[in-house]
Amino acid sequence: MSDCCSASDPGIAAPKKLPCPVSGHESAQVSSSTIKHHIKAPWLWQEKAQRYYFCSDPHCDVVYFGQDGSVIDVAGVRSDVGVKNQSMTALVCYCYGVTRAEAAVNPRIREFVIAETKQHRCACEVRNPSGQCCLADFPRT
Ligand SMILES: [Zn+2]
Repeated sequence: MSDCCSASDPGIAAPKKLPCPVSGHESAQVSSSTIKHHIKAPWLWQEKAQRYYFCSDPHCDVVYFGQDGSVIDVAGVRSDVGVKNQSMTALVCYCYGVTRAEAAVNPRIREFVIAETKQHRCACEVRNPSGQCCLADFPRT
């Protein structure tokens, strides 16, 4: 008997990181539910039974790519991807709407985000295009 769930789980063998097909940047896995929260017209997206990855290289236009080499670039994403936008008004924290400029001048914001994250009140997996905690994107003060 075949496993009914195997189509949505294409194998534990999938690597946690893959190089971006355009920049070669080592990119972390991202869930397809995160992708659907950020791409334009997600109802048109042809999701395949494979893993997807988020390219965080600021100089690369690729946002998401699949194991098959298919890519979704910044033009296909409705959110402004903070790591791809070096302006001071770009968001570093999507859960609480913190811009790079705010995070750079006010260390209390980072403390607030750390405290909220410890209480599991953040929503990075949905709100952050990378699907990961935003604290790593905070500017060093
Ligand atoms: Zn890339």
